[in-house]
Amino acid sequence: MASEAAALLDQLMGRNRNVTGDDAVKEEHFSDPEVCKHFLCGFCPSKLFINTRSDIGICDKLHDDHFKEAYDASNEKWQRGYEERFIEYLEKLIRDLDKRVQRGKERLQRSEDANTNVKEQRE
Ligand SMILES: [Zn+2]
Repeated sequence: MASEAAALLDQLMGRNRNVTGDDAVKEEHFSDPEVCKHFLCGFCPSKLFINTRSDIGICDKLHDDHFKEAYDASNEKWQRGYEERFIEYLEKLIRDLDKRVQRGKERLQRSEDANTNVKEQRE
């Protein structure tokens, strides 16, 4: 029993050393440029449209839950402008998709008009 407790203690102390030692300085942080800030705010939109005609490409940034958890727990949430940029990005996505839908509707309307003309000419 005693050795088990010691092992557990070692484990805990080892973990503490990692957090407070030199490693902590080098530890990755959610503000690192390679971390996806959209993911921190909620989700990364790049995954929404994979294999569709609106595919916006793959996001090459990190999507790690531990960054998101650290961000959620930090007092910097809502302080860094990530949410504002996320919303701006989503709004741009929506505008682009709306345009695409509008163009599709216009194309459909034109082909319907063309079909009606052909029919009328035949009759
Ligand atoms: Zn991303």
